[in-house]
Amino acid sequence: MKTFLAAFALSLAIGQAAPLKVASLHPLVADLARQVGGANVEVIEILKPGGDIHHFEPAPKDIAAMRGSKLLLASGKELETYLDKLRDSLGASIKLVEVGEKIPSIPYVCNHDHGDGDHDHHHGQFDPHWWHSAENMKRAARIVADELTAADPANAAAYEAGAKAASKRFGELKVWAQKEIAKISRADRKLVTAHAAFGYFCKEFGFEPISLLGVGRSDDADSKHVAETIAEIREHGIKAVFPEDQANPKVLAEIARSTGVKIGEPLIADGTAKIAHTFETMLAHNVRALVAALAPVK
Ligand SMILES: [Zn+2]
Repeated sequence: MKTFLAAFALSLAIGQAAPLKVASLHPLVADLARQVGGANVEVIEILKPGGDIHHFEPAPKDIAAMRGSKLLLASGKELETYLDKLRDSLGASIKLVEVGEKIPSIPYVCNHDHGDGDHDHHHGQFDPHWWHSAENMKRAARIVADELTAADPANAAAYEAGAKAASKRFGELKVWAQKEIAKISRADRKLVTAHAAFGYFCKEFGFEPISLLGVGRSDDADSKHVAETIAEIREHGIKAVFPEDQANPKVLAEIARSTGVKIGEPLIADGTAKIAHTFETMLAHNVRALVAALAPVK
């Protein structure tokens, strides 16, 4: 009886264990941590939906909000340029994990001939937007599960199951996206956007990326670059150009006016849109927008 009571007390203690606190610097990563961690984690969103991942810098109130977390999840790939400084101010009690770090990088794609210094390359030579790929999200689920397990080994089995279930959903979404994209003819699978954020999407789903600006969200495309894009649109008979939910530079409207291409529905590039800030809602939104603008009207 004593053993039974002790076991009962222990199970109560486990059942009531406080969830593992995990802070996140990216809404998509926060969602991933919730999917993998379930009820065993409490996710503290430092950079919330609607925020700008390219210009965010943690304020003292953000650093205060991170305190007490075991893990701080960043997207990595040099997107968060402040991480070294942040690591110093947080000290050893919080492990900083760059989720994108072990995900294979693809080079920042720039298909225009331009001189040095006229392009926004401040995020390094890789495209940091790794979240536009179901395969990358599966890798990220595994990375997050491993980190949650290291921080909280008692719930290893739950994290493993969470990662498997998330990967399965991402795989199913990829199959759906491929079927939808098949409605667009191969020749029309060209993705003209302002900001060079869709390299991973293009690689996974067979599009050619053409971007006007760099990887950031600045609004100044140089005129040579714009002229080249206009020539490219005419040469390849491109049907549509796509603004983004948080970046709709005037240059796209200019291009649409001078070439007659349509302006598609805004795409979600950074995964921070208030209307869609999970991988699943973001990818579904983007695929629907592409099919609506590029597939033949039935
Ligand atoms: Zn971006």
